[in-house]
Amino acid sequence: MFDLIIRQGKTIDHQKMDIGIKDGKILQVAPVINASAVHEYRLQENEFISAGWIDDHVHCFEEMTLYYDYPDEVGYKQGVTTVIDAGTTGAENIHRFYDLAQEAKTNVFALVNISKWGIVEQDELADLSKIKANLVSDIVEKFPNFIVGLKARMSKTVIGDNGITPLELAKEIQKANQGLPLMVHIGSAPPTLDAILNHMERGDVLTHCFNGKENGILDRGTQSIKSFVFDAYEKGIAFDIGHGTDSFNFDVAERALSENIKAASISTDIYIRNRTNGPVYDLATTMEKLAVVGYDWKEIIDKVTVAPALQFKLNKKGKIAVGYDADLTVFSFKEADKVLTDSNGNTRTTSIQIIPTKAVIGGEIFETEY
Ligand code: ZN
Ligand code: ZN
Repeated sequence: MFDLIIRQGKTIDHQKMDIGIKDGKILQVAPVINASAVHEYRLQENEFISAGWIDDHVHCFEEMTLYYDYPDEVGYKQGVTTVIDAGTTGAENIHRFYDLAQEAKTNVFALVNISKWGIVEQDELADLSKIKANLVSDIVEKFPNFIVGLKARMSKTVIGDNGITPLELAKEIQKANQGLPLMVHIGSAPPTLDAILNHMERGDVLTHCFNGKENGILDRGTQSIKSFVFDAYEKGIAFDIGHGTDSFNFDVAERALSENIKAASISTDIYIRNRTNGPVYDLATTMEKLAVVGYDWKEIIDKVTVAPALQFKLNKKGKIAVGYDADLTVFSFKEADKVLTDSNGNTRTTSIQIIPTKAVIGGEIFETEY
């Protein structure tokens, strides 16, 4: 007896399957499961299913007054089954975030900011005494199933006069913690993007990859991608969208695609203000933006499931497969025009919208509020 069987599941690449779930795990995946379950959900004709969507860059610690939100508001209500908070908190306050996160229905993980109080102060890396390697190591050890990586914000207003040093410290902390995944935020120089990418290695995650700033990947003069960006891309640095209020530009994303540079993962950098007022709104809208840029829907789904799971070593997430966590997103497509706005006020119009309808988290079905 299963707890839940999803019947007539259909993936974006038109594989058909029943999915049998027990104790929060996927126990069977087959064209037809001849068994009964406590609950069954039969997909409608127009519905698709994927592994649960993972948004690997959000801010959802409700006690952080400036950049706050609530996990379920950016999670299951928008079809997102797992969120990774990207460094809102540091070693000194992440325990409080952990406590609150346990109350959410959505799976919540965190990248711990290398600065001990996280982004409470906006210039958290301007004072190097706030970067305490031993504090980070201790807290990583204390919350091994919650902290899935490190976060360092490497832009002018954050680092003060410290140049590339905070990133060097982040890399040292990473090495002292079994190569924990590291996400690096980019923005205005200093440090220059060139210097940042030089210090990053294969598997490190560069977020805000398609920002429209001078210090971004696009050379404003030639309107082409800066040459050193290709080296970083080929080295295996994962480019992450991290849309945010300020960090996604259609022209940059389109130019990058035309030069064969693609985002590895699609994420929102969402918090209450850019969720309610835009330009982010939700992960689905961010996915639509990559669709109008020219990504196909199969890869867009991969970039919110298997890709972020790999990047942050969520080993039982990101796939519909036996033994994996029973996290799934059910969605449909609607043909209707929708104007999409990037962080710089540029617009594109999509004629196809993706509508998440259900989120299955640990085998439990939730209606989205989409
Ligand atoms: Zn950022
Ligand atoms: Zn962020």
